[in-house]
Amino acid sequence: VPGSGALLSVQQLTKLFGSFAACNHIDLDIAHGEIHALLGENGAGKSTLVKMLFGVLEPTEGHILWEGQPVSIGSPGDARKLGIGMVFQHFSLFEALTVAENIALSLDDSIPIGRIAEEARALSRAYGLPLDPHAHVADLSVGERQRIEIVRALLQNPKLIILDEPTSVLTPQEADKLFETLFKLKAEGKSVLYISHRLEEVQRICDRATVLRNGSVTGACDPRQETPASLARMMVGSDVATV
Ligand code: ADP
Ligand code: MG
Repeated sequence: VPGSGALLSVQQLTKLFGSFAACNHIDLDIAHGEIHALLGENGAGKSTLVKMLFGVLEPTEGHILWEGQPVSIGSPGDARKLGIGMVFQHFSLFEALTVAENIALSLDDSIPIGRIAEEARALSRAYGLPLDPHAHVADLSVGERQRIEIVRALLQNPKLIILDEPTSVLTPQEADKLFETLFKLKAEGKSVLYISHRLEEVQRICDRATVLRNGSVTGACDPRQETPASLARMMVGSDVATV
């Protein structure tokens, strides 16, 4: 049975913008405790798909099952309540506020800021993402800003964390630290949906890959069993033989 035992199962998910299908009848299962890549060229539909999973865009057609049950994810709040955390490609942080103040904005108002700062500091240490909760965002590097988004997602104790092209803004050293964080999440049984167009990092860190091209799934595989050429064919088509 498709989707049985999966944490998240996407069935025939479609998003039309006018008559253009950004996502076209996509099927995808994410297991517990796996790092699952969503691999595809720019414009393949990766961000559109995960925006539907996080309640930012409404699907035109199709179903989402969470732990085997059909769900309707109408807003990011709905997604967080289910146990989905998201790290967007473009951050939404207020420069003039501190790290803790930014995190507080997406949480329940009743949580005191002091407690948020303490928990953010503890989580950032535990996951190897050093962050001073009292620092002002304006003073932070782009890598540090991404850590805020990750810690913000982790504070809600998600079962699935989605990262949209996280390494595109990181140095190779920062990317290595991020991969260690992802391995720790996996070791805890959490699932990661990891969006990238970089074959080598997907082959290095992911257990499974779903490949998108022009809004459609062109392959699902264990990326470590593939060659760069076979993955590239799924990403860009059979006419491109050499990479
Ligand atoms: P990816 O994240 O794989 O680079 P996207 O999901 O951002 O791709 O975009 C997939 C396709 O959908 C692209 O052709 C893009 O231009 C189009 N698209 C994305 N968002 C919109 C929108 N809001 N309105 C119209 N077209 C869109
Ligand atoms: Mg994108």
